[in-house]
Amino acid sequence: MRVAVVGSGPSGCYTAQSLVQLDPGVLVDVLDRLPCPYGLVRYGVAPDHEKIKSLQNNLRTILEHERVRFLGGVEIGPGGVPAARLRELYHAVVYCVGAATDRHLGVPGEDLPGSWSATEFVSWYSAHPDSTADGFVAGARSAVVIGVGNVAVDVTRMLARGLAELSPTDMPHSALAALAASRVTDIHMVGRRGPSQARFTTKELRELGALPDTEVAVHAEELALDPAYLDPSPLSAPQRRNVEVLRGWAAAESGRSPRRISLRFFLRPVELLAEGGRVGAVRFERTVPDGRGGVRGTGEFEAIEAQLVLRSVGYLGVPLEGLPFDPATGTVPHLAGRVLRAGTVSPGEYVAGWIKRGPTGVIGTNRPCAKETATSLVEDAETLVHKSLPGDPLAGLRAEGLDPVEWTGWQAIERAEAALGASLGRGVVKLPDWQSLRDAAHGL
Ligand code: NAP
Repeated sequence: MRVAVVGSGPSGCYTAQSLVQLDPGVLVDVLDRLPCPYGLVRYGVAPDHEKIKSLQNNLRTILEHERVRFLGGVEIGPGGVPAARLRELYHAVVYCVGAATDRHLGVPGEDLPGSWSATEFVSWYSAHPDSTADGFVAGARSAVVIGVGNVAVDVTRMLARGLAELSPTDMPHSALAALAASRVTDIHMVGRRGPSQARFTTKELRELGALPDTEVAVHAEELALDPAYLDPSPLSAPQRRNVEVLRGWAAAESGRSPRRISLRFFLRPVELLAEGGRVGAVRFERTVPDGRGGVRGTGEFEAIEAQLVLRSVGYLGVPLEGLPFDPATGTVPHLAGRVLRAGTVSPGEYVAGWIKRGPTGVIGTNRPCAKETATSLVEDAETLVHKSLPGDPLAGLRAEGLDPVEWTGWQAIERAEAALGASLGRGVVKLPDWQSLRDAAHGL
């Protein structure tokens, strides 16, 4: 049986792993739009999170399995290989394409210069080749990060880091230079609900308190608007740990650090205000708990100065050409990973990861999710293998005019990134654009 897995992030790699473990005869091609594997582990995990980044070594072992083949530079859909053609080349296709875009706030001023989605900022410092934006921190002294999830914590931390901490990372040299020259001294991370409802995890939250030359400030009276802050007994253990960390910061003396991170709660963004043709502040409405886990507005407003706004309010899946899609959840309808068309299982089409369950959970959450999908597929194998294929799908992809980057091409990119880093007196430094990645893959 030949299976195509579309996407080489954690969900794609774990799907390939489960498939080869469950079926001793299956051959798996892991396709990716980019010439580089690992999805958000390469292009989403913050560069200073070396331990999480080292998960690439586990994913590498999967892609180097003798029955798994990585094929980069293969786009599925408009401009690439039509999904219907892919179905002809393989017995089954598993879509592991993640959640490719960001949610919108839907407030006036959202698109002012200086207001970015956190995803754009992350793509920039992660050297994503589609990232063309620049100048995030230029001229900014105060930044507002909207949202209190782990991505918000990541971008807040990256804004607060200095040259000494960033230069050992693999971030592109231009982003390193820009962040090293940053004059941002105040970073406000703002949640619309209370501290017990924040989505960040405690380990990530604590890291903010350990940043050099940076103090963390909270407003005790704001935290106390949350009944669970005063009486944490109804909270889950992770929520309680978050509250304890915040309580510690509320009790701490204010220092005199050159940088300050302010964690704010019960403020919902209502408008981004312009100043001199770009964002100058964010206007928030004070909220209070509504007793049902949500909040209601109070009619009181507060503006927080910001020349840089990062909207970090979650990712969103995008529809795939030729596949059903639920716009409310940004996911593909499925039954244990089998794609459902109008409520009926569509033979040979599967999903795993964020496009299956939405953009939640940590990297490890993808393991059981991928296993469930792979198990469904292997259960269906007997029916799927009746389809006759035209031969090695690689020939079929080449006939579509593609020149897939195979594993040796990716290894050439890795060597080029090590050489670039050495030439700059740093460790590995990522290549930041399509041309240099393509050239490196072809040994140019
Ligand atoms: P997230 O965890 O869903 O957090 C989104 C945040 O945006 C929430 O605080 C949410 O508040 C807020 N929000 C949503 N709509 C809003 C609006 N209109 N106005 C104001 N605030 C709004 O999403 P994420 O931070 O993008 O993370 C995605 C996933 O990746 C998560 O599972 C996360 O744990 C994971 N991740 C993990 C790590 C790590 O392990 N180190 C790093 C990065 C990401 P409400 O709760 O009120 O909706």
